[in-house]
Amino acid sequence: MPERVIMQVDLDYFYAQCEEVRDPSLKNKPVVVCIYSGRGEDSGAVSTSNYVARRYGVRSGMPITKAKQLLKNAEAVFLKADLDYYDEVSRRVMNILRKYADKFEEVSVDEAYLDVTERAKGDYEAARELASKIKNEIKETENLTCSIGIGPNKVIAKMASDYQKPNGLTVVKPTEAFEFISKMAVDKLPGVGAKTRKILEEMGVKTIGELAKQDPQKLVSRFGRKLGNYLYNAANGRDDEPVKERLEPTQFSRIVTLKQDLQKVDEIEKYIDEICRDLYTRVSSQGYIFKSVGVMCVSDTLAAYTRSETYEHPLDSYEALRSASTTLLSRLLEEEKIKIRRVGVKVSDLVKKSGQKTLYDFITP
Ligand SMILES: [Mg+2]
Repeated sequence: MPERVIMQVDLDYFYAQCEEVRDPSLKNKPVVVCIYSGRGEDSGAVSTSNYVARRYGVRSGMPITKAKQLLKNAEAVFLKADLDYYDEVSRRVMNILRKYADKFEEVSVDEAYLDVTERAKGDYEAARELASKIKNEIKETENLTCSIGIGPNKVIAKMASDYQKPNGLTVVKPTEAFEFISKMAVDKLPGVGAKTRKILEEMGVKTIGELAKQDPQKLVSRFGRKLGNYLYNAANGRDDEPVKERLEPTQFSRIVTLKQDLQKVDEIEKYIDEICRDLYTRVSSQGYIFKSVGVMCVSDTLAAYTRSETYEHPLDSYEALRSASTTLLSRLLEEEKIKIRRVGVKVSDLVKKSGQKTLYDFITP
């Protein structure tokens, strides 16, 4: 296989940057975009903050109350995430990016991979020029900055784009790839979270270069075949994952048949738990959160019933999905008084999550 030229484009501090574009007076102030839980004034978490806020220690995922403490003496602006607006901006940016790619893969609302091997004719300098054009077009049309990494595969391209932020452009040629990553800490490798890092540390492996020298068999027996092989290859600068076009799903659902017909919520609850667990894993691993939840039931007479609800705040946890589904199921059973043969859950009104992790983040040892 000839060397590929892969580009990873990551919009900088996306939600907060969108807010700065909408209101330029925010630009030099700390800006914190929050997802409120709807359970009391400051209950919820920081989704994204701009770099001014990050200088005060604000980070994604932090409770809003903590961010407010850190910023109490600053003229900070706290905003509720406007996911529909970010989605709209994202859609336009993705349409720009798609034009520049032989193959295009949208990973999340602010992240995409482009295979540009053919149009760059395998040349990394041509790819660098292409990346500059992309950055200019996004800046001119949307007034947004992004960071771009170019490398021989998706792993290197992602690490290159993470290397300089914001507004970075990092080109890593195939011959430089191993040198580029080998001195970095293992957790710079996409897919190495705290848990994997800890195990590697216990094995005496701190850098990617050290990981590359491990016996692949040993990594497989420690982490399983999939993650073990990935770690070994990625640490050696190798990754064959293709850039793949995906069709956007509009909903996810799962329905199961009960072992026997049932009538009471608490008897059906264990099925709901299992369905929600499976459904939530699928939805979140593809980078979505959702605003609507529905339950469907088929009765012992084979009649179908549904109940659904759309929420103001998107749901983004298994617990929230389970609790919404159980509530809908109780309502349905109370109103219809039926015996149930099959039960299912559906989520829709999907919204792309920002900063979605790669597939590898969902492989756990
Ligand atoms: Mg980003």
